[in-house]
Amino acid sequence: MEKSLNEYREQRCKDIEENLKEIRDNIAEAALKSGRTEKDVHLMAVTKTVEPYFINHAIANGIDLIGENRVQELLSKKPDLNLSGVDVHLIGHLQTNKVKQVVGEVSTIQSVDSIKVAKEISKCSVNAGINTDVLLEVNIGEEESKNGLEYNQVLEICHEMAELPGISVKGLMAIPPICENDVVLRQFFSNMYQLYVDIDNKKIHNICMQILSMGMSSDYEAAIMEGANLVRVGSSIFGARVY
Ligand SMILES: *Cc1c(COP(=O)(O)O)cnc(C)c1O
Repeated sequence: MEKSLNEYREQRCKDIEENLKEIRDNIAEAALKSGRTEKDVHLMAVTKTVEPYFINHAIANGIDLIGENRVQELLSKKPDLNLSGVDVHLIGHLQTNKVKQVVGEVSTIQSVDSIKVAKEISKCSVNAGINTDVLLEVNIGEEESKNGLEYNQVLEICHEMAELPGISVKGLMAIPPICENDVVLRQFFSNMYQLYVDIDNKKIHNICMQILSMGMSSDYEAAIMEGANLVRVGSSIFGARVY
């Protein structure tokens, strides 16, 4: 029993190492195709459902950015993670009543999808005497089932958020719809890139477009080719999730 658990762990660790190598090669290739290099694209390991043991193994193999979806899961795993030199982002939908628990626990909240939640992050950050970086999540496919701001709302929200203390907008995040057709998928990513550039060009005080977070296991190469500089990869690193 003991032995087989060790064997399982060893095998999974080897898989993680190999997966990371392959993903880094793919990122480098896609970055070159988009006129950049691998250094221009940050690989986030998405760690939801993954035990700290394996997350720490990814960290030991060079991962310096992790993303969790749920505040509760993040807080319960955090004490067991080797986070020295590692950045932690929240990437899942955030309810207003959970904001207080997560402010100060992550460097960036990628999933800001309303002015209401932004105001709460601002308030909690000011109370804690800190600043919280955020990305605005855009519902790029205008899907009923998904969270995120409407494309046409984003600029207006940026202007509102510029006035809030304790919170800084650093970029945009999106999860496009599942697309059979690669051309359609690329168009969603390209629309995001356009919005990112357009907002940057407005030079709004306190709004600074540094991070374009898009692309997951199935589509990170396409996202990079359309301008993503942060990709969020989970199952391709750690294997299929078991809930
Ligand atoms: C789960 C998740 C990912 C990673 O998904 P994979 O397909 O496993 O790579 C990326 N971003 C968000 C917001 C997620 O919830």
